[in-house]
Amino acid sequence: MLPDLYVCSSCHEQFDFKFREAYYYVGAAPAHEQIADADLLWINLRPAWCKDCECVCGVEDIAPLRAFEGAYGAARAGQPVEYPSYAKFMEPADAIRELGDQLRWRMGRRRPARALCCGGSRYQWMDVAQPLLRHAQCEYGFIEPRIYIGSGCGPGPGIYAPANIRLYDPEGELIGQLTWRKQDGSVWDIEPMRYPPPAADD
Ligand SMILES: [Zn+2]
Ligand SMILES: [Zn+2]
Repeated sequence: MLPDLYVCSSCHEQFDFKFREAYYYVGAAPAHEQIADADLLWINLRPAWCKDCECVCGVEDIAPLRAFEGAYGAARAGQPVEYPSYAKFMEPADAIRELGDQLRWRMGRRRPARALCCGGSRYQWMDVAQPLLRHAQCEYGFIEPRIYIGSGCGPGPGIYAPANIRLYDPEGELIGQLTWRKQDGSVWDIEPMRYPPPAADD
């Protein structure tokens, strides 16, 4: 789970996540204008500092294949699963389908984990005790996590306002964002979105 934000221990500058939730699109047809909710797959994120974007961001948390196989086996045995999907409160058939989808995705995945701000790989994990991340402008400052307990009530994103949840292809390439949720939640409107072009490297 991502902390709510990071704060420099010295100057108190705050670093927010630009987004905290993202999905793979695993449907057979090209993603165009509308996609089915059933073709979305939860992306596990770990907090990291992207050295290219100079921001805190989510990096794909991709465990070894055997973790996915184990989770799928556990779901089939009716045991609770927390990774790669939180399936504790799902109906058994839903949990088996969800973890089967995750396993299928993991078996097809080729690229190593990417920072989902820019698709890059120049990042540093922030959920490890060492090394601490020093704030570049501060002599004594370290960037530390803050966690607040919020209350998530209401009809969920995409009903009264566009959700703007990022959507990636199975290799972590940004392809769009989910905007409006339609037809009792079974369908999402999407709009195209791409990574920013890489900065000139010289
Ligand atoms: Zn600072
Ligand atoms: Zn980045």
